[in-house]
Amino acid sequence: MRKILRFSSAVLAISAGFLGSTSISWALDPQAEASLKLQEQDLSRIAATESQPVQAAMQSLKIRKLRPVSVTDNLVPRGFQDGDDYSSLPFLLDADELQKLGMKAARPEIPEIGWHAQMALKRESPVYKVHIHAIRTANDNGTHAATISPQEIKRYVDQANRVWWSSGIEFVFDPDKDFEHRDSTLLNYDCTLDDYWENFRDPDWSPTRTDGTKYDEERMRVGNEYKGKLVVFFRYGNGFQFDEEKNVWKHTPGTGGFSSSTKSFVAMPRMYAEMNLLAHEIGHYMHLPHPFAGDIESVQEAAQEIRNWVEVQGHATQNALLVFDGDNIERYSGLPADVKDTPPDARGAIFVSAYGEGANCKASYPIVQIPVLFSGDYQTVYTLRPDRLNIMSYFKHCYALGTQHLSGDQIAIARNALINGNRMHLLQPSFERRPAMQKAVQQQ
Ligand SMILES: [Zn+2]
Repeated sequence: MRKILRFSSAVLAISAGFLGSTSISWALDPQAEASLKLQEQDLSRIAATESQPVQAAMQSLKIRKLRPVSVTDNLVPRGFQDGDDYSSLPFLLDADELQKLGMKAARPEIPEIGWHAQMALKRESPVYKVHIHAIRTANDNGTHAATISPQEIKRYVDQANRVWWSSGIEFVFDPDKDFEHRDSTLLNYDCTLDDYWENFRDPDWSPTRTDGTKYDEERMRVGNEYKGKLVVFFRYGNGFQFDEEKNVWKHTPGTGGFSSSTKSFVAMPRMYAEMNLLAHEIGHYMHLPHPFAGDIESVQEAAQEIRNWVEVQGHATQNALLVFDGDNIERYSGLPADVKDTPPDARGAIFVSAYGEGANCKASYPIVQIPVLFSGDYQTVYTLRPDRLNIMSYFKHCYALGTQHLSGDQIAIARNALINGNRMHLLQPSFERRPAMQKAVQQQ
């Protein structure tokens, strides 16, 4: 019942424009009410199979020192790399690694989520169709090949359409026409590894890349060949894992995706991973930043951040949670867009620290309270209530919470990128007449 209440008030807030209503169902038509009931059934079904294996694996992986290669500076300005979003990792492990983690059976089950509740939301109009073009890569000599299938990419796109439903932006992907494979190391890797990386011995200090520029430039060049389409690379990438037995770092495939409001592509991992990842990366491509800020591990750390924000940086105590509002331009200048309607968000670890393992994904723990003792001996208690269903958050793998969505500001920003911004070309498809494209399709 609690979930129905929550979804009802979300629907009310969006369609009628007022917040905080606790009344239920009177504003919903029977069809919407029925779809919310179906959503409720979905959620209890998912809760049964839910992300427990994902949660457990993520925890073990952090302990096992799996580290993404940083490509952040490759993407500035306005780029977002999700290498430290560990939710895709469990899906990308090989059999050996799965066994080490005690997950011998299979990869974590990916629940199929209905989109009944999304259908009850108001949808922006007109609806714009955006064509996806997927390029799966391997190295020049065919090694380190990405293995995702066109059908798996279709599943990503279907899920993105559930998440993006209310935006009125619809993604179109035909596995037969919009997919190709290319052997190109420049498209398949993210960077050239530093010559000395094998000398790294400290498990807390992972090797870093020396140069990602030419890889970035090549993806940009190829991305720009497909005017009228949103190009998504499924690539091997680069990462590192600390081998505790041999006490060395070893080179591993990339662990996440990345994108940027200024680049001509989205980059994804080599296999089908966390099912909301494409919807999230497309958000970055459409100019949306993360709603969170910082990498807070505990309530105490959060309190310290707030104290610094107020006492060292001189911000007001009343809205000090702004310190965790990653997509608010008052917090960070240089963001691609200003999202005012997503609440402050300090990511998931603070929930785990406050309530225990798995609490980040549990509906029964919607808030974290942060008591802050300021100098002068006065205490203020802040209530952190992130929108854990926001697709741009790092709660996006918490499937049992419901289907992820975009906020009103996020929708306005994405539509603006499409109608007035650098994504305008997606509304004028001319790709079908391109000979290069025809050739590529025939080859695979
Ligand atoms: Zn991201």
